[in-house]
Parts: sequence; structure tokens; C-alpha cells
Amino acid sequence: MRKPIVAGNWKMHKTSREAAELAAEIKRELGDMDQVECVLCPPFTSLRAVREVIAGSRLQLGAQNCHWEKQGAFTGEVSAPMLLEEGCSYVIIGHSERRQYFGETDETVARRVRGALDAGLKTIVCVGETLAEREAGTTCSVVERQVRIGLSQVRAGEWDRVVVAYEPVWAIGTGRNATAEQAQEVHAWIRKILRELGGDAAERVRIQYGGSVKPDNAHELFSQPDVDGGLIGGASLKADSFAAIVRAAL
Ligand code: PEP
Repeated sequence: MRKPIVAGNWKMHKTSREAAELAAEIKRELGDMDQVECVLCPPFTSLRAVREVIAGSRLQLGAQNCHWEKQGAFTGEVSAPMLLEEGCSYVIIGHSERRQYFGETDETVARRVRGALDAGLKTIVCVGETLAEREAGTTCSVVERQVRIGLSQVRAGEWDRVVVAYEPVWAIGTGRNATAEQAQEVHAWIRKILRELGGDAAERVRIQYGGSVKPDNAHELFSQPDVDGGLIGGASLKADSFAAIVRAAL
């Protein structure tokens, strides 16, 4: 049995004061939730504030990106050991917004995953096709390439620290979610590839769905056999909707 995992990707929202307030509300709703792993991923500047608020609860802290090197002349970047010291247990890697706006490629995703695993972090590795790719019938081949290259540097024994997030780009922030059937089809495909990469460990890897998940569609999506929770953008910025989505994973 895989424990569902729901993560809130707060993107570039919330100052540290606002983030602390939101985290406090989420803690009131979900602080002792133990059947679903709940991860809050605020901007770097709010990590410490959120860590202080959620201390002593079951909520976990995640970041939205990390560099592959431990340190160096990489202005504007943050390394995995830095995140670990800030209290992060997870880091999101390869989000489609990073791929679209910041030149992230499958190769840089692979390097960042390696850096995160080396530091002892767990990774949420995002994959997903664009609308043009779906309409061209290339969803499975695009996702396969992203998974095979993005996870190419994961070693045996590390798969329990890997979560994959399937996020069709056309569903992110658009209000247009994949249907449960569409999600399950791609999740099953991802798990098949994971079996080839990681053998039996693939059965333990959680695969989240992301893309316009809301309280009213979460249960149906999360009920699919290979959907093990969600990566939530917009709906994670309100404690009540995030809590409802987490409970839909029970
Ligand atoms: C995301 O950015 O990871 C995401 C899924 O966003 P939204 O839930 O807003 O579609």
C-alpha cells in the first residue's frame, strides 16, 4: 500500500508573514493528519517562517527547486544542502513553469535530482505534456522521455525518496483538469517505465496528479489505482480547499 502524498506548490505567492499565516491555518486543519503525507512548498524566502509554524506537527516542508551543485558561483540559485538545513524534506524538480520560463531541460532535471538525493532530500519530479503534444498523440512518448532522462541518475536504494508528479501542462492553472481516466492512463504508463528503471521499487513510488485539482474533483482523481495523491497549485493557497483536497486522498 502506498501512502498518498499531497503537496501544495505555493509558487511565487506569499511573503513570509503571509506564508506563516497560511501555514498556521493549514496546521489547524491538518497538523495531525497521518494517513496522508502533506507537504507545504512555499517560496525560498518563507521556508524558515513556515518551518517554525509547522514544527511539532506532521506537516512537512518542501522547496520548489534546487541546484545540482552543493555551492558555487551560481547567482540566484539555492543548493540542496541549504534546503536541508532550512528544514526541507522535499524539493520539487522540473516543474513545467521551470521548463517553460527558465530553460529547464530533462538533463538539468536529472542533475538537480542527483544533487537533491545526494543531500538526503526527497524529490517530487514533475513531468507532463503540452496541449500540442497531447493533440499530436505524443503524450506517452513525451512523458517517457521526461521520466527516463529525468530519473536517469537515481540509484538502486533511492527510489523510496522519489515521487513523480504527472502534470499535464494544459491543465496547470487553467481550471481544466485531466479526467480521471486520462490521468490513470498516463500514471499506469509511468509506473510501467518505473518498473523498467527500478524493478520492484516502482510499486512503492508515489505518482501524484497535478493540474487544476480542486476539492470537487480530487476524490475521483485520487481514487484511480495509480494516482497516489496530488501536487496542488492554486487550491493550496487557501487552507480550507487544501485541507479538503488532502482529505479526498484518504
Ligand atoms: C502546479 O503548479 O503544480 C499546479 C498543479 O497548479 P494548479 O493546481 O493551479 O493547476
